[in-house]
Amino acid sequence: MERTLVILKPCTIQRGLIGEIISRFEKKGLCLVGMKMVWLTDEILSEHYAHLKEKPFFQRIKDAMSVCPVIVCCWEGVDAIQVVRLMAGTTNGRNAQPGTIRGDYSMSVQENIVHASDSPETAAIELKRFFVDSELFSYKRNDLLSIYANDEF
Ligand code: UDP
Ligand code: MG
Repeated sequence: MERTLVILKPCTIQRGLIGEIISRFEKKGLCLVGMKMVWLTDEILSEHYAHLKEKPFFQRIKDAMSVCPVIVCCWEGVDAIQVVRLMAGTTNGRNAQPGTIRGDYSMSVQENIVHASDSPETAAIELKRFFVDSELFSYKRNDLLSIYANDEF
């Protein structure tokens, strides 16, 4: 089983889409093992978006990510990192495939509903960035044998 970080961005909170987006991951069969609301600081956002620090929109995305609190979640499942990235869709909501989260709910490259970790290495670093160990739980959904074959997990 893998764990991955999802952030419901301020646009999602402002548009009243929290339940709808969480529901997608839940219905897919991923297991929610951590969740909290946090107001992100410029400091943590500078670290989180360090790969974009040379871009002209660096400050703009940090500002957009701190207009209100966000919801950070940790989802667990087989290949969860790739599964969640596929569910999120490509970065620009206008190009994202219909059926993906960004494809269904976003018209913007910036206001694109969710952040999702992009690799196992990134997921491990990002989960540590937003959660302390005691905020992530170990348990199994009771419907696991309806979600996977018994040799899949
Ligand atoms: N972003 C933006 N303009 C761009 C590229 C990215 O505003 O041209 C924002 C967008 O909100 C994106 C975030 O910066 O989700 C992080 O960019 P990244 O390339 O990591 O995209 P993601 O992994 O979110 O698809
Ligand atoms: Mg990214």
